Amino acid sequence: MSAVEIICRNCGADTLLKREAVYDGFTKTGEKLACSSCGFEYASEDDVPFKAVETEPQIFTEADRSAKVEVFDDGENQRLCRYCANYIVNPFTQFCALHKKEVQATDTCPKFEQAKEKDGGGTPI
Ligand SMILES: [Zn+2]
Repeated sequence: MSAVEIICRNCGADTLLKREAVYDGFTKTGEKLACSSCGFEYASEDDVPFKAVETEPQIFTEADRSAKVEVFDDGENQRLCRYCANYIVNPFTQFCALHKKEVQATDTCPKFEQAKEKDGGGTPI
């Protein structure tokens, strides 16, 4: 059974929860939840002062990041899904018509096909 850390409400210790099955004859009737330091018994699971799991502190802030991470060189840019003829974007998803799956605009693909430019003007001579 894994150790469960608690901050005991009775003795204040940073300690472990002692969990013992309670039997009535051969029938398990419940669990006894107690402080392993002072033996204080908690009425129920909801009553146990579980120690909050500490989350990793945020070491890097946005300011530490380079502001120019979105810059790609042209060669890489040209194979991105967002420039592909099979890339379909709608308000809910980005989709590859060729692979029938969701993609990201920044994905790259070996089956990349250059999308036709939606040119606004100029007729070919
Ligand atoms: Zn205690």
